Amino acid sequence: MGKVPGYARIWKYGLRYNALNHFMNNIDEASLSRERQKARELRGSQWWKRQLAQGRCHYCGKSYPPKTLTMDHIVPLSRGGKSTKGNVVPACKVCNNKKKYMLPIEWEEYLESVTENSVE
Ligand SMILES: [Zn+2]
Repeated sequence: MGKVPGYARIWKYGLRYNALNHFMNNIDEASLSRERQKARELRGSQWWKRQLAQGRCHYCGKSYPPKTLTMDHIVPLSRGGKSTKGNVVPACKVCNNKKKYMLPIEWEEYLESVTENSVE
């Protein structure tokens, strides 16, 4: 007689555990889409328009027409970066592509090579 409630309880715990697991696995996906949405909002903000208006790539420091600059996350969203003013910068297409396809160490070397001769 007592076996049935006990078994039912275990079964219930199992369900709850699965639900929790499911939730945990989906946190990243959920926060990722939240950060992507925040990036879209930032892109439409006056603050971002002012960043673009400076016409300067954050990485190589070269001047570009504002229209050709794109929003880049210094710490990529896929690595836990956020869509905050401190983490998004205007980047030229060259830097943006390089950052996308380079390994972090290659990217560091690239940054050193482009900032070596800059005044800052
Ligand atoms: Zn650049």
